[in-house]
Amino acid sequence: MAQTLPSATIAAFAAIVGKDHVFFDEADQASYQDKFAIDDARHHPAGAVAPATVEEIQAIVRIASDRGIALWPISRGKNLGYGGSAPLLAGSVVLDLSRMKKIDYDEANGTVLLEPGVGFYDLYDFLKSRGMKHWLSVPGNSWGSVVGNALDRGMGYTPYGEHATRICGIEAVMADGLVVRTGMGALEGAPTWQLYRFGFGPGWDQMFVQSNFGIVTKMGLWLMPAPESLMGMDLEFDRPEDLGPLIDAIAPLRREGLLQQSPTIGNWLRAAAVVTTRDQWTDKPGALPDDVIAAIRKKFNVGWWGVSLRLYGRDSVNKAAYAILEQELGKLKPMSLRPTTWKTGEPLEATGWTGTPLTMPMQNANWHGGRGGHIGFSPILPQSGAAAQAQFQRTYARYKEYGMDYQASFAFGERHLINVNAVLINKDDPDLMGRVDPFLKHLIADAKAQGYGEYRTHLDYMDAVAGTYDFNRGALGQLNRRVKNALDPKGVIAPGKSGIWPSNRMGGRG
Ligand code: ADP
Repeated sequence: MAQTLPSATIAAFAAIVGKDHVFFDEADQASYQDKFAIDDARHHPAGAVAPATVEEIQAIVRIASDRGIALWPISRGKNLGYGGSAPLLAGSVVLDLSRMKKIDYDEANGTVLLEPGVGFYDLYDFLKSRGMKHWLSVPGNSWGSVVGNALDRGMGYTPYGEHATRICGIEAVMADGLVVRTGMGALEGAPTWQLYRFGFGPGWDQMFVQSNFGIVTKMGLWLMPAPESLMGMDLEFDRPEDLGPLIDAIAPLRREGLLQQSPTIGNWLRAAAVVTTRDQWTDKPGALPDDVIAAIRKKFNVGWWGVSLRLYGRDSVNKAAYAILEQELGKLKPMSLRPTTWKTGEPLEATGWTGTPLTMPMQNANWHGGRGGHIGFSPILPQSGAAAQAQFQRTYARYKEYGMDYQASFAFGERHLINVNAVLINKDDPDLMGRVDPFLKHLIADAKAQGYGEYRTHLDYMDAVAGTYDFNRGALGQLNRRVKNALDPKGVIAPGKSGIWPSNRMGGRG
């Protein structure tokens, strides 16, 4: 059901940003909706307003605060599988920051200070025009914003792949209009804002990540110096039970730092879902049976699991590290091991491992045809082969029970694993869509029973996931609400984000 704001309010927004930058008709609302939400009416925005400056944001926040309007800040709003550009609370006004595209580059120190509208492609083109002295880390689907992705704890494949931990310094507009700079940025004229992460006293950068405590208008980020060489191997493993030993082989190498990037172990559907559609393989409902899995694996020449390991930096160091990788992974007797090498001056392959933005992986949204998409389910696990194997077995059984095709990966962090599941959907298939919600709720409950919680989730599950963080009767949730009430008692900024509701909007809770 379309919701509209009083025309006087729209006019007040237009007076700030210009009439070309307010979007409140039905088509506008539809374009900011989450086309992949199970029920998109739950997240239907009232419209959007797109400021170009911090001062315009302050003025918009003032109006929203005076008139009881909830704003939902987005950078580029490409958060596929997690809500896209849509707000959690229906009737919110999307604060679209995609016009703010300034890049400040400190080449000597390898840092950038970015506005929210800077996309991965923008930054890539910019760095290329400066001779590519630094490499990006990009997420699998790189159509979004560098700032937005880091704010939602997105990940990439290089040693700088944990994007939220590369943040150094933030500027934000608070709900009362105050503009703050964190870390050394709080010191007028400091040349060290992007160099030292903590400043003096509490460090606040991470307070703006996956929260609704402020509107981020600038973000400092560290970039990886272009390596002299890149070496690595792509490995395939034949059996489902090869997962555990593979994890136990990689984990110590990751922890000791021989491997600086975070490898991702993925299953056979990855390639197939990107370049083919389900009906090319079978017309039967239910989870893909073993004979179809075998056919997919044969066609793409892949194992049950595959993983790519990469080494970055000095050539002599990479060569020494590669020999150790070869020795350790060789012990597992992989189905196949394909080495890969690159040195400065050679043509660089466009992949996630070279920090090249790509959108091709998004093609998997078309697996079922129709209005396709995917919804994420991503619990955090310990870095243990036994734990991962058990998680796989439990989850795979649920996929079969609900008739879903298994697409998952186990992505390394320095000390943890993320079991990223992309549940492939088709909004034109009511039978499939009817199974998605109970399936996801079951997965969340199964993980919770093991003491596992998700690192990120779709708008529809933010309350459910926040609810699993239940130590001491949800003390963390209480802390979040107290902070929210103190900073934003009217709930102007993204009420409900990450399960954080101010007291005055608790009614919006799903
Ligand atoms: P991307 O385009 O990279 O996918 P989004 O713009 O969709 O990133 O941002 C992801 C999420 O992060 C948004 O849904 C929002 O909750 C939050 N977010 C994004 N940008 C900001 C910002 N500038 N300030 C506060 N929160 C933000």
